[in-house]
Amino acid sequence: MQEEVLRELATSLRGELEQIIGDEDERMALAAELDAALALPAGEAGLKLIATLRARPQTREWVATRIDAGEPETWRMFAVPPGVIIAPLRVHVVCPRCDYDRFFVSPGEDFGRCPRHGLRLVPAED
Ligand SMILES: [Zn+2]
Repeated sequence: MQEEVLRELATSLRGELEQIIGDEDERMALAAELDAALALPAGEAGLKLIATLRARPQTREWVATRIDAGEPETWRMFAVPPGVIIAPLRVHVVCPRCDYDRFFVSPGEDFGRCPRHGLRLVPAED
């Protein structure tokens, strides 16, 4: 997911916090986290935004209703039910033809190609 999209999500969320987080202290804490993430320079805010958007079940649910289900990796990242332990934020990609693989920290990155086959790497089924 691109940082630009994450920024838009975080900004909309910021404007709807009263409907999303009932507890005032919790709401203030989240607002501060969102502001801190949004204040980061372009290109550096992605992971912090993802972490902030995923940190609470309410925000995960909110995000899950707003992102395109056509982006399965991203959707799965946010649509996990509350209480489920979330896997570390890593994307495992493989060559469709051989066992070449790589790990990416951010799902927004270009996964690149297999050096042997030149095929575009795809998310692994694991
Ligand atoms: Zn290959």
